[in-house]
Amino acid sequence: MYSLAFSILFVSFIVLTLLVRFWLASRHIRHVLTHRSAVPAEFAEKIRLAAHQKAADYTIARTKFGLLTLAVNTLVLVGFTLLGGLQWLSLQIFQATGPGMAYQLALLAAFALISGAIDLPFDYYKQFKLEQRFGFNKMSKGLFFADLVKGSLLGAAIGLPLAWVVLTLMGKAGDLWWLYTWMVWSGFQLLMMVLFPTVIAPLFNKFTPLEDQSLKARIEGLMQRVGFASKGLFVMDGSKRSAHGNAYFSGFGAAKRIVFFDTLLARLQPQEIEAVLAHELGHFKLKHIVKRVVVMFAMSLGFLALLGFLKTQPWFYDGLGVNPLALPGQSNDAMVLLLFMLVLPVFTFLFGPLTSLTSRKHEFEADAFAAKHTDARDLVSALVKMYEDNASTLTPDPLHSAFYDSHPPASVRIRQLNLAVQ
Ligand SMILES: [Zn+2]
Repeated sequence: MYSLAFSILFVSFIVLTLLVRFWLASRHIRHVLTHRSAVPAEFAEKIRLAAHQKAADYTIARTKFGLLTLAVNTLVLVGFTLLGGLQWLSLQIFQATGPGMAYQLALLAAFALISGAIDLPFDYYKQFKLEQRFGFNKMSKGLFFADLVKGSLLGAAIGLPLAWVVLTLMGKAGDLWWLYTWMVWSGFQLLMMVLFPTVIAPLFNKFTPLEDQSLKARIEGLMQRVGFASKGLFVMDGSKRSAHGNAYFSGFGAAKRIVFFDTLLARLQPQEIEAVLAHELGHFKLKHIVKRVVVMFAMSLGFLALLGFLKTQPWFYDGLGVNPLALPGQSNDAMVLLLFMLVLPVFTFLFGPLTSLTSRKHEFEADAFAAKHTDARDLVSALVKMYEDNASTLTPDPLHSAFYDSHPPASVRIRQLNLAVQ
């Protein structure tokens, strides 16, 4: 009875999510098409019509591709759950491994392999057709597959021990297993924040300290002005994979660093680089990173408490196409982890705009910080170049943007920065 109700609720949320996403995408495409014929007045002197139209075509192509993957992912989700895919998979594995930890780890690994195999043709298409068509792909096929192998090995090396720890807690730590798991998970997240920039990212890219002496002096001056101590200013060979340019920060404490893509560095003037850096420093100084981590920890505590409850509810399994009593003498811990990971996004999708809203608020704050410590006009001209080079649309549908975008639309950001100049 409960399980049927839960199945119906699950399907309703899937349908609702699909409808909202298709509706937003079609609005977005229509909006971009409508504005394709002319560069918006405020950018007319800075961006060529050809670049504007390329951005429109690129945006539309990516949005359509997003709809295709959405449709496929939804089919896969339903296949794994309501159509009994996970149930079938677990029976096959159980017959091979028998009960115990080996079964649980094998189930998680098999699921990861199957999902990876389904994603692969889409990733390949995106890189070598879509990105290629717009001149952004710089990757050889060899590098693509080398990344795939490296990423999978790394995923197994990190994921399997972590899964073993979590499954052991689930099996042996009693009713409060979810609380202990949360502690382990939080510790793991912090560890990854240190390991990602220092150990993992260098497996895929080369990071070299910024060499240009005059630029370095300029940047060190800025860091002193805003009171920021870090030796971590790196240039990453992003051009190895893509022509897209970017700058980002990562890590915390002694491991914090700011990374410039070589593609971006090559395009910007020294004062523009300084302005972009000031924006990134703003994220640090205004504690955006700490805030994000705190929110992330609080949310994972809530989700794990929920999982602690769902684990003991037969309707949660039955309602998602899994018989919790199918395997005699075997706990369903790995299964409930999979089910939870699969269905959680369906129920949280509609909260996405809240995350986007916070993120955009932080972007405005970081822009204001940059305007205060450098010349806002330099950030404006850097942003214009970044939009043009990345073929980001200047005319997103406002609702689509409010729902998904972590950064405010270019025109809004630039208008705000121009106010700071006056
Ligand atoms: Zn930012």
